[in-house]
Amino acid sequence: MPTDPVYTVGKARVARVVDCQIDTFRPTDLMPDWSAAHEALLASLPETLSGDGRRMVLSIHSWVVWLDGRIILIDTGVGNDKPRPFAPYFDRLTTPYLARLAALGVTPEAVDCVLHTHLHVDHVGWNTRLIDGQWRPTFPNARHVFSAREYAFFRDPANVGNRHRTSFQTQQDSVTPIVEAGMADMIEVYGREVIPGFSFHATPGHSADHASIMLESGSAKALFSGDVFHHPVQVLAPDLLSIFDAEREMTLRSRSWALDVAADEGAMLFSAHFPASSAGKVNRHGNGFSWSFA
Ligand SMILES: [Zn+2]
Repeated sequence: MPTDPVYTVGKARVARVVDCQIDTFRPTDLMPDWSAAHEALLASLPETLSGDGRRMVLSIHSWVVWLDGRIILIDTGVGNDKPRPFAPYFDRLTTPYLARLAALGVTPEAVDCVLHTHLHVDHVGWNTRLIDGQWRPTFPNARHVFSAREYAFFRDPANVGNRHRTSFQTQQDSVTPIVEAGMADMIEVYGREVIPGFSFHATPGHSADHASIMLESGSAKALFSGDVFHHPVQVLAPDLLSIFDAEREMTLRSRSWALDVAADEGAMLFSAHFPASSAGKVNRHGNGFSWSFA
């Protein structure tokens, strides 16, 4: 497997740690409004398709950032051994995620901070691992920063239902153990800097209080967009929602904000699920946007 690139954002370095890849979904499965017109857009992104060209490949990964002597992780994948009966492609995985992290020279103990765009199953999993039958924190010296509102949403019995059943299960084994260990910093998301260089920006819609995380170092910017996008075809056709987006209008507003920031402020976009390198640039193109992997 070729080594992933290490990107430079000002004084920061950024690299990906893959947890897993899935190619479960055809476009029509993932995007309810898929039409023939989107096929031509998708054909311009051949590196995002399965070998038979019929399914979209999605990557599940963390981004690791080295900045001023600190090591920061953004999102933590699905994790190993977790029972996910309602999401079979994530059920009881055994991935070499920690070995991949080690290959970058990062031990779990060395991670200073874990930042979460949101609290879905594929973004918090490696927060914990199964040791002696208990879900224990994987990164024992890390503060874990995430939205207080997002956590409250998944604690509220009024929100239990089919759409959120995996998310509720996820909190029990991957988030609540971190809270109970006193390792969580639950924040209000309104664009402020939460640790030096990193700010959380409200991009709700996909989930109740989804955040996009901005890294700024000198004049350089990067946007960790979480699930504002699932696939780069949504840069070309921003009105294409995925089945995982909870609320349409907010999702579209959040996506519009992210596209403007990426295109107009020159922020490199580090996606949560694009395949290939998962990172790239958004440019204005006519009345819309284009995407190029970096
Ligand atoms: Zn996701």
